[in-house]
Amino acid sequence: MPDIVSEIASYLRRLFPICRSITGEGNRETLRILQELVPLKVLEYPSGQKVYDWTIPREWNIRDAWIKNASGEKIVDFQRSNLHVVSYSIPVHARMKKRDLVEHLHFREDLPSAIPYRTTYYKENWGFCLSHDDYMKHFRDDETYEVFIDSELKQGSLSVGELTIKGRTDKEYLISTYICHPSLANDNLTGPVLTAFLARELLREKTNFSYRVVFVPETIGAIAYCANNEEAMKRIGTGFVVSSVGGPGKVGYRQSWQKDSVVNSVIEETFREKGITDYKVYPFDIHGSDERQYSSQGFRINIASINKDRFYDYPYYHTSLDDLDFVSAENVAFCLDLHVAALRSLDRNIVYRNLSPNCEVMLSKHGLYETTGGGQLPVFGTRNRQDLILWLLFHCDGTKSLWEISRLLDMPVGPLFDLAEELAKRNLLVES
Ligand code: ZN
Repeated sequence: MPDIVSEIASYLRRLFPICRSITGEGNRETLRILQELVPLKVLEYPSGQKVYDWTIPREWNIRDAWIKNASGEKIVDFQRSNLHVVSYSIPVHARMKKRDLVEHLHFREDLPSAIPYRTTYYKENWGFCLSHDDYMKHFRDDETYEVFIDSELKQGSLSVGELTIKGRTDKEYLISTYICHPSLANDNLTGPVLTAFLARELLREKTNFSYRVVFVPETIGAIAYCANNEEAMKRIGTGFVVSSVGGPGKVGYRQSWQKDSVVNSVIEETFREKGITDYKVYPFDIHGSDERQYSSQGFRINIASINKDRFYDYPYYHTSLDDLDFVSAENVAFCLDLHVAALRSLDRNIVYRNLSPNCEVMLSKHGLYETTGGGQLPVFGTRNRQDLILWLLFHCDGTKSLWEISRLLDMPVGPLFDLAEELAKRNLLVES
């Protein structure tokens, strides 16, 4: 059996060249490949469908695109990098001078060897992206260029991958990632790859909670998914957006919109358990990724993200330099491990109710009283097992999760998970 790092590496390599966008065959091909790992259902939402304040756009597909110079030589070629074409470019075939062409050319003087990534989803336009080096080398004022974009915009659909993993209870967590970026590695091919491996891991475990795992094009896909699954999504309280998880930089996490929400402390505790002390913390921001939709007023899901080189934070962001040399499968595997550990904690974050709320439980009757009466002294700061049993019975009133109780007790949650399970087996606590 191949080790997970080489498995991840092979999926990164296979998926990287595919031209993805917010719709189109590239997205379906991506989901088909990920179906090798997990049984994703592919949902298709039709062009023109109203989804809240938005409308699903026409489906975009592209076969080829280039710019030729006067001697017929291709100086910009989509076949060499799909970043060369502005995503959602309308078809064009024309001859033009540099002065007319230049408004359709995008490059970055500050990063002269990089091809930038540009899109024009909601404004009919076309364009090419190229490195500033190539622009300086190939474009002259007196020359006429032939431009060609063989693309198509049609009434089609927007594709979403979905997997629902049934746990012991119907309470769900959301795991969402986006599949709309073409050949860009950290942001965001590493996202869907990690998510597929994470889903495979969850499928292998017997989980307490259920999991809704979605692969959507960013923004419009998340909006479309919310609109088409409104009731289910409104029941979800917590989740992750998986993005930018393969870069060489520091580990960090973006907090969910409620700073004191459980998911944020779960992540911090996970980092602590893994010995990660030097990490970045990003507060919730209105310019984030799909948590903008999931945390909006109607849904208010607490969405956090664990990153390694978060988007915006590295200079190669949204350029051809964010490629397979920038990321590594080891980094993705490392972040996968963090996601798995954080979800294992969340999966045990159950809300219990004390079945005997009226006065104290008689511990000795249940074999939980450790010594002869009178010998126990309350010791602050070093609570023993019996103290914790009493605290659990005191706090478990059907409203507080074990994480919340651990914070009230100012202690790590781990011992409470085990103890609560034991009390549930003895019919002293019940999940509520
Ligand atoms: Zn991006």
